[in-house]
Amino acid sequence: MTDTSQVRINGQRLWDSLMEMAQIGATDKGGCNRQALTDLDKQGRDLFVKWCEDAGCSISVDEMGNIFARRPGNNPELPAVLTGSHLDTQPTGGKFDGVYGVLAGLEVVRALNDAGIETEAPLEVAVWTNEEGARFSPAMIGSGVWAGEFDLDYAYARADKEGKTFGDELARIGYKGKVPAKPRPLAAAFEVHIEQGPILEAEQKQIGVLSGVQGMNWYDLTLIGQPCHAGPSPMEIRRDPFMGLHKILDQLYKLAAEQGPWARATFGDIRVEPGSRNTVPEKLVLAVDLRHPDQQVLDSMDQRFREIAATVAEETGLEHDIRDEWRSPAVAFDKSCVEAVRASVADLGYSNKEMVSGAGHDSVYISRVAPTSMIFVPCEKGLSHNEAENAEPKDLEAGANVLLHAMLKMANNAE
Ligand SMILES: [Zn+2]
Repeated sequence: MTDTSQVRINGQRLWDSLMEMAQIGATDKGGCNRQALTDLDKQGRDLFVKWCEDAGCSISVDEMGNIFARRPGNNPELPAVLTGSHLDTQPTGGKFDGVYGVLAGLEVVRALNDAGIETEAPLEVAVWTNEEGARFSPAMIGSGVWAGEFDLDYAYARADKEGKTFGDELARIGYKGKVPAKPRPLAAAFEVHIEQGPILEAEQKQIGVLSGVQGMNWYDLTLIGQPCHAGPSPMEIRRDPFMGLHKILDQLYKLAAEQGPWARATFGDIRVEPGSRNTVPEKLVLAVDLRHPDQQVLDSMDQRFREIAATVAEETGLEHDIRDEWRSPAVAFDKSCVEAVRASVADLGYSNKEMVSGAGHDSVYISRVAPTSMIFVPCEKGLSHNEAENAEPKDLEAGANVLLHAMLKMANNAE
């Protein structure tokens, strides 16, 4: 077997490709607006496909518009080693979220071509459709349909704000493929991504070795009291939902602190009815988002949340209701894939940290049907979903080198 330990990706070429892709949908503030299934998304896809064909890959497109660029292996019978991410962005998105994972995969192919290295298993670079969920909700629907989380018809019927459907727009841009959007055997799947959080930068680590993704539960908490006049009604006779809410919030923040450092409790939205300055509200509806990477801990947080809400409602004379909006179970990545990343980081000598992802990624769904793991690199100030999103070329290069060697390990079953 050829010694592949010395091969490296070309950091300058990776950076140049990122900057060229960023021209498509470039915003005034240096970001990107290339939302799913727009004309700009088509341009981005076309550019990616051209680059992959130039690199000798064959292209297939499935019913969801997911693109697979395949570099053949010596043994075409072997399941492929896949990497990929997404090309769509938020309306005020950045140049790296998702795009980096796709173009790092392309750079792996280019680097292996340059070095004349063949792998035993085929390699594939995937572009998953509509990861962001900005134009069509829900997020990660391309990988989600592929992995069996959503039905194809459900996905096709999703509509944007103008009423245009996913299925029509996919056909319009010419990416409604014929290949069934279904999993097939894969040896491994990797995704390299900017961290989208501040931890690696703060700790001055170049690579995040991911062991999993936080589980998350979304709820609507409703508290109902009695509306009354803000002036004549004495405080002690009120049934004011806010009087219950502040106690609940206090206890939930304490709960998150007790389950630190990875527990999260977020209250991102609140609706007040009737919503009048001089009336004690009748009703509050609060969006609650609880997260933890350990499913058992998340389940215990779920239980505590219900107990806290029930007890406080009782004490404060309120009615309460908790509606489950969405659940995404915690993901533990495949041990052999995590080990391939860990070993590659060690071989390459990069500073690193073992961590979990706080954000959803296509890998969450992929991991349900294939051995999967992820690699993170730092991004400036942890900023993402923002036009100012930025990352250091040397970190992007390091992450792509880790990806290269992790893929080589899985494609040759040794290095
Ligand atoms: Zn992303």
